[in-house]
Amino acid sequence: MLAEIKGLNEECGIFGVWGHSDAAQLTYYGLHALQHRGQEGTGIVVSDGHTLKGVKGEGLVTEIFTAEQMAQLTGTNAIGHVRYATAGGGGYENVQPLLFHSQTGSLALAHNGNLVNANSLKHQLEGQGSIFQTSSDSEVLAHLIRRSGFTHMSDKVKNALSMLKGAYAYLIMTETELMVALDPHGLRPLSLGCLGDAYVVASETCAFDVIGAEYIRDIEPGELLIISERGLVSEQFAVSSTKAICMMEYVYFSRPDSNIQGVNVHTARKNMGKRLAVEAPIEADVVTGVPDSSISAAIGYAEASGIPYEMGLIKNKYVGRTFIQPSQSLREQGVKMKLSPVRGVVEGKRVIMVDDSIVRGTTSRRIVSLLKEAGATEVHVVISSPPIKNPCFYGIDTSSKEELIAADKTVEEIRQIIGADSLTFLSLEGMLAALGQTEAVNGFCLGCFTGNYPTEIYPDTLQYYYQRG
Ligand code: SF4
Repeated sequence: MLAEIKGLNEECGIFGVWGHSDAAQLTYYGLHALQHRGQEGTGIVVSDGHTLKGVKGEGLVTEIFTAEQMAQLTGTNAIGHVRYATAGGGGYENVQPLLFHSQTGSLALAHNGNLVNANSLKHQLEGQGSIFQTSSDSEVLAHLIRRSGFTHMSDKVKNALSMLKGAYAYLIMTETELMVALDPHGLRPLSLGCLGDAYVVASETCAFDVIGAEYIRDIEPGELLIISERGLVSEQFAVSSTKAICMMEYVYFSRPDSNIQGVNVHTARKNMGKRLAVEAPIEADVVTGVPDSSISAAIGYAEASGIPYEMGLIKNKYVGRTFIQPSQSLREQGVKMKLSPVRGVVEGKRVIMVDDSIVRGTTSRRIVSLLKEAGATEVHVVISSPPIKNPCFYGIDTSSKEELIAADKTVEEIRQIIGADSLTFLSLEGMLAALGQTEAVNGFCLGCFTGNYPTEIYPDTLQYYYQRG
């Protein structure tokens, strides 16, 4: 994926196991399968029923956990996390799972998403004496649980969750329980599976496949699952309002081999490509996709248009993360290092280049220019989602509004900037139809496309997003 240079980053992936002798090892494999959701930090916390202990660090799953450390992580229950830092920034202390010890017991938590009322809750909690260990929004939940007046842990957690607003898939582990919670809109994907008698939970089902676990079902919006020696109990901590799973999970973030809400991600993307071929018929010689996330849509476009799919771009898999720098000039260099045009495929050809989205426009401009330098006579850019005009407040780093090229530019203006011979975006209706939906209100968050968000956005959150451009 070109996330690092495109300016579109997922914020986290979570994985948990309850009741398996290889809990930490399974979590390692699960996190490895979820690595695309965050590459800046990772951690595992394990429980043996008496104590919680963990290992975490800044880097990739394969870089952080040594064989010696894994051998120390003994216990039958574990949670893990991969992180891409936006809210609260990077740094070792923000790497999750967060682990808290107190006289009454220990608590570990892993969070995927972003709380839109974190700042006001933090302000309130600090006023009551809380001292935060991290600058991440995720920690707020631990303080709310600790301060809850209820006796039983599950009641404390439900009480704390009811105060959160925004996107959250949380794994909360104590010595005796694993709790799994999803926000009332179900903004982030979260699935439950089993491996023999053990339960597993993951941000994406691709993590089940890698460990041979069986998918059971998706966690419902507003649901709290409590897994313990007594088995699995499901409760609603909030009334599920409008279901609003992030559309970008289908368009870009999730792995093609994952299923979300029963829909395979590759198939959804392929359908988006097919719709695009109907909405944007173009006379051309070859169709190519920007690897990796746009290949499914490109295959769909080729299939529906009858124009052959070719591998016109290849990705260099061996570019280290250290080469990815945030400045504009280095971002452009980053595109060149990551992608190469296949001259033998594109030379003298009219090329349809399928991409999943345009964020800043920098990446698209560089790819169009790479294809033209390699001899493409025409480059038609087709995008398998509508223009991203608004920021995301729910854990996707879509950059500030000022950086989004579609926020204040027409399609023709964007076409000119990226140097394409034509530019077409998939319509909102086409994108929904690709997922078998006919109405824009049916089950998805479309905030970054439409500006209509499923939750209230708090003034301090707005200020943060509009100032950081
Ligand atoms: S605003 Fe966009 S990226 Fe954010 S959750 Fe909604 S659909 Fe996903």
